[in-house]
Amino acid sequence: MPHYQPPLRDMHFVLDELLDLNAELAQLPAHAGLDATTVHQVLEEGGKFAAERLFPLNQTGDREGCHYDAATRSVTTPRGFRDAYQQYVAAGWPSLACDPAYGGQGLPVALNNAFYEMLNAANQAWTMYPGLSHGAYECLHAHGSEAQKQLYLPRLVSGEWTGTMCLTEAHCGTDLGLLRTRAEPQPDGSYRLTGNKIFISAGEHDMAANIVHLVLARLPDAPSGTRGISLFVVPKFLPDAQGEPGERNAIGCGAIEHKMGIHGNATCQINLDGAKGWLIGEPHRGLNAMFVMMNAARLGVGMQSLGLTEVAYQNALAYARERAQGRSLSGTKASSAPADPIIVHPDVRRMLMTARAYAEGGRAFTSYVALMIDRELNHPDDSVRREAADEVALLTPIVKAFLTDNAWIATSEALQVFGGHGYIAEWGMEQYVRDARINMIYEGTNTIQSLDLLGRKVLMDQGEKLRRFGEKIRHFIVAQSADPAMAEFITPLADLAEKLVKLTAEIGGKAAADPEEMGAAAVPYLRVAGHLVYAYFFARMAKLSLTRAAGGDPFYQAKLATARFYFARLLPETAMLIRQARSGAASLMAMDFS
Ligand SMILES: Cc1cc2nc3c(=O)[nH]c(=O)nc-3n(C[C@H](O)[C@H](O)[C@H](O)COP(=O)(O)OP(=O)(O)OC[C@H]3O[C@@H](n4cnc5c(N)ncnc54)[C@H](O)[C@@H]3O)c2cc1C
Repeated sequence: MPHYQPPLRDMHFVLDELLDLNAELAQLPAHAGLDATTVHQVLEEGGKFAAERLFPLNQTGDREGCHYDAATRSVTTPRGFRDAYQQYVAAGWPSLACDPAYGGQGLPVALNNAFYEMLNAANQAWTMYPGLSHGAYECLHAHGSEAQKQLYLPRLVSGEWTGTMCLTEAHCGTDLGLLRTRAEPQPDGSYRLTGNKIFISAGEHDMAANIVHLVLARLPDAPSGTRGISLFVVPKFLPDAQGEPGERNAIGCGAIEHKMGIHGNATCQINLDGAKGWLIGEPHRGLNAMFVMMNAARLGVGMQSLGLTEVAYQNALAYARERAQGRSLSGTKASSAPADPIIVHPDVRRMLMTARAYAEGGRAFTSYVALMIDRELNHPDDSVRREAADEVALLTPIVKAFLTDNAWIATSEALQVFGGHGYIAEWGMEQYVRDARINMIYEGTNTIQSLDLLGRKVLMDQGEKLRRFGEKIRHFIVAQSADPAMAEFITPLADLAEKLVKLTAEIGGKAAADPEEMGAAAVPYLRVAGHLVYAYFFARMAKLSLTRAAGGDPFYQAKLATARFYFARLLPETAMLIRQARSGAASLMAMDFS
């Protein structure tokens, strides 16, 4: 049976010691009364909920899955999911980082993010229900009319109602410009929506009294392509005059998918048969509005993968300490036993350290991005807010793609530590691998994230956002250059930063002549950028640990060991990636597949 322990010590380290949460919060009037101690008390309670309430439902939810009843078009979630959700709502967890104007607690995104890491580690499939609701909350908060906000936000904030995002159709996934769902204006100012959506997470379930679907559709006069898409709010039950769920709307679930992982989350076909909906924001600007939800979801998917990386690591570590096979190459370590525990073997340690480094690097990076979002939302200085927004825009595709690729690697390595037992369901490891796989696909595949990073975020603004983030790295390198103990970290960091600048210029030049060059380079490019970011955070964590390890706390020794492993064993992947990115489009485009 797997186990899960919330990584609170590392969260403390990242939030307080690395990112100086108290100083960050002090700059933000909305959080001025909050200190790191309160944040950690909340995280401790949140960790208990995740580990004690959700984690026991993870394997059972996977085995049982969701059930669809065609007669009532209803979905039953796995046993225990509904009760856990009610407890979650009763405890006020959905409102944590929501606007107090709508009943929220107004706590920072950085706190919510860390909380979501634990929820996802405990049970990704369950966490998607409140996760999508929070995305719907953010989208309506940013783009809804005052009346829409008054009606929907308090109920999403309390968790009484949940939300979805309805983009995908059978013929239209990545290319949303192809979508066909139609919205006809009605005399009363509402719209009648007709069409079929597929793969809608949490599209139907038995956990909440109403479901608020955010649906992309076309108005009759819409231009073709992505410029003709509008966004609508389409509730499952039409709210009555008191805002309570009233008449059933003509939107419903036609079937649920049988899929590789996240079995506890209902992936629904959603049919709109003249459903009543209301426009959110401007006509034809729906994609723009939906991007609020998509960006939130992209960070959310990164947190799903961080959670899975952590829990897979914890279980692999426990197993490697217990499982006895063979003897250490350097001589027997457990002489009273017939064999040594497998943790003595260098390659088992490589697998464990890979998962550990991806978890710790990912935690530092995503906590930083979450704090940048807090700045973007709440800093009193306009220019600081804009700068933070630019950084979040640059780093979001890296969070989404780099963390999800790494979780796929990490969960697979963690499974491998178990040998054949990892492949057997009872140990829980194969579920982590299966659950991790979807994260590379939804919310824009990792290829699309890479194209977004290289094309839109880097080349389209002549590398300006990247240059500004690079400045932060350069300042750190300069500040550390007098410290000989930091040379092992800042030398490879500086080297990679220089190589990424050259690589960007080279691809930019080639792409100007042949756009296929950008498509050919984007995926390895994003991984190189991801490693640069991790190298920066590991170097910063190493700096702190070097000074604090002298106090004798083994935490800092362990942090240094992880940073050294990262630089020795994971960062060198960039040499290969840079060669791949530079190799160009020719070898990809040459084959005549006919
Ligand atoms: C379990 C699950 C849950 C989901 N939840 C939701 C949800 O809640 N709401 C929702 O709206 N959708 C949801 N989706 C849909 C998901 O977002 C899409 O599957 C995803 O965006 C990819 O679209 P597609 O499957 O049509 O693949 P396609 O778009 O057909 O892509 C196929 C392949 O081609 C590549 N490709 C496509 N276009 C390009 C391009 N221009 N350049 C380079 N490569 C390209 C892709 O990267 C991919 O590898 C979910 C899907 C699953 C499986």
